[in-house]
Amino acid sequence: MQVRDLSVAFGFDKNGLPRDGIKPLQVTDRVSFEIHEGEFFALVGESGCGKSVTAMGILRLLPQPSARIVEGAVLYYAGGKPGDAPVDLAKIPLNELQKVRGSEIACIFQEPMQALNPVVTIKKQLLEVFKFASKGGAVKGAAKGAVNDHLAAIREMLLQAGFKDPDRVLDAYPHELSGGMLQRVCIVMALLPKPKLIIADEPTTALDVTVQAQVLAVLKDLAERTGTAVLLITHNMGIVSQYADRVAVMYAGRIVECGPVRDVIDNPMHPYTQGLLAAIPENHSDMRTMKSIPGSVPHPKDFVDGCRFADRCEKCAALPAEIQAKCRSQQIPPKAGDVHFAHCFSAE
Ligand code: SF4
Repeated sequence: MQVRDLSVAFGFDKNGLPRDGIKPLQVTDRVSFEIHEGEFFALVGESGCGKSVTAMGILRLLPQPSARIVEGAVLYYAGGKPGDAPVDLAKIPLNELQKVRGSEIACIFQEPMQALNPVVTIKKQLLEVFKFASKGGAVKGAAKGAVNDHLAAIREMLLQAGFKDPDRVLDAYPHELSGGMLQRVCIVMALLPKPKLIIADEPTTALDVTVQAQVLAVLKDLAERTGTAVLLITHNMGIVSQYADRVAVMYAGRIVECGPVRDVIDNPMHPYTQGLLAAIPENHSDMRTMKSIPGSVPHPKDFVDGCRFADRCEKCAALPAEIQAKCRSQQIPPKAGDVHFAHCFSAE
């Protein structure tokens, strides 16, 4: 999948016009990245950087009618081969997109308790996946024989997700399971239709620290077994270094650095990435040496055309005056063909 120059703005009415005549706020600015088959790709940054808006924009799950994709494309290569013609998920009719949601591209959200129906057993909810996310309608209104096949597939995947007694889980209601168990159920639910890509939006944020690693390990293991690519949204660089193959760092609605995880971690080019890495607690045996990035992410109404990190950038002040002026007024365009790149004048 190629996300190309994706820009999302908020503040439209139901007719697609600016609400109350006020110019809509653009919260993401020409975001571009690609995810390859079977790849674990992370989108990282502080809260308010536009990570979730970008991820939800891919499947057009943005709040309606306020949010709209105002520019860009989401090219999805359903066949998985380089020569195949892509479909643009940002533009195809909603009924076409509905066939992609769930069965081709699935989502795992932050709060598993809210993703599941509290008054329906896990078994019924997992069986519904086959009813609604069937490819080509093959299992629509599943026949009795098929239900047994589906239950066998569900039990198998629950075992792979670390549940020793799948039948106990199947008979349970959501409130009878812990947060970690529920999120593993959601991972199984997302993977059952064998999607090509899973979008996991901060899937462990609402969980106890002790079960976060277990849930991510299950996600990575099951995705590898099924050949599913993962787009992981996170603000945690530690998680990125442990699980992802490639990473894009977002700041104030823009990608500021992108590359293979090892390259980005060993040789971070953008001062924001350097700041995020310096702030990982595990990297500091003495907490007094742990750094933080001063200031906070600007509000979209304060977004500028030049570098949006300039007010927090410690490197900027040490640059020659003419480069500082460029920092404040220009954005460096991406260099074609670079595997690891950063939009920063100090990285040129
Ligand atoms: S472009 Fe300039 S202000 Fe922005 S991060 Fe790079 S050095 Fe700092």
